[in-house]
Amino acid sequence: MKITAVEPFILHLPLTSDSISDSTHSITHWGVVGAKITTSDGLEGYGFTGTHAHLASDRLITSCIRDCYAPLLIGEDAADHQRLWTKLARYPALQWVGRAGITHLALAAVDVALWDLAAKKAGLPLWALLGGARTDALEAYNTDIGWLSFSKDALVAGSARAVEEEGFTRIKIKVGHDDPNTDIERLEAVRKRLGHRVRIAIDANGRWDLPTCQRFCARAKDLDIYWFEEPMWYDDVASHTALARNTAIPVALGEQLYTVDAFRTFINAGAVHYVQPDVTRLGGITEYIQVADLALANRLPVVPHAGEMSQVHVHLSYWHPASTILEYIPWIKDHFHEPAHVKDGIFLRPQQPGASTTPLLESMERHGKSLT
Ligand SMILES: [Mg+2]
Repeated sequence: MKITAVEPFILHLPLTSDSISDSTHSITHWGVVGAKITTSDGLEGYGFTGTHAHLASDRLITSCIRDCYAPLLIGEDAADHQRLWTKLARYPALQWVGRAGITHLALAAVDVALWDLAAKKAGLPLWALLGGARTDALEAYNTDIGWLSFSKDALVAGSARAVEEEGFTRIKIKVGHDDPNTDIERLEAVRKRLGHRVRIAIDANGRWDLPTCQRFCARAKDLDIYWFEEPMWYDDVASHTALARNTAIPVALGEQLYTVDAFRTFINAGAVHYVQPDVTRLGGITEYIQVADLALANRLPVVPHAGEMSQVHVHLSYWHPASTILEYIPWIKDHFHEPAHVKDGIFLRPQQPGASTTPLLESMERHGKSLT
């Protein structure tokens, strides 16, 4: 399995609705920025990170893959993915300029492609290569009904549709208005419509400060919030520790953390209850496993953030024993050979060899962007 080619690519895939916003971002497309790695025995592995489809910054990632990582990979045995992870992540000149950010997003794409190759070589879906499934039914929660840009009526109608027509028992709703009372009113409307059986998580995307969060949590105490995701600035351990101590609503975070060390800092501080690693921001599957094992050792549940829209996390969540439920956002699934598909609130378990990261050729041709 000698690596013969490493070819970066950029896809800008249109969202399934025209545009969406949370408290921090507004987007119309999802960026799938990745690497195709070809081996001497004719296999092709695909891996990618997720972006906001901003072409100039996407090209920083692909130039890192093409100009920095590819020369370190050509001629290597693709099966040595742990050693290759270390070779790339600890390459002195690259480590000097980035242990997070662009170099880490590029590393994620390469690492996922190497795992995709390993699973294809074995003729197994990734979850089976890793050691088999822990469950027959991985439950999904629906985030795509809860964007901040949706009116209150649209939020209530979409939540009801997801629960009553599509079989979800769990949803996630964005919060983070300038006036948190607006969020309370939206959540009360959904709770009133759906009753108390549906599990509702919320996500502020790092927008608020500690006093705002504390006031919000006091007002939300009767709404039975399943978790409060990214209440405050992503790296702020002290504020999350204070909030976690002072509210009964569990804290979830991790989608913006780049390393296992960052997770360890939050976990050791008691600042997180639901651990949310993402293969597209960590250095791929290799580092994700370290974070999931760390959560397991601390008896904390893992609920990945789906920067790859669950194409890869569906494998990891079917396999890793700390996993519980998984995010569902249907934006990009139909551009892949094996979509991350949900039926009656349950993710179908992938069956094809690999990590479900191989894009359709027509999607590559139609939505591919120039690298220069
Ligand atoms: Mg989030």
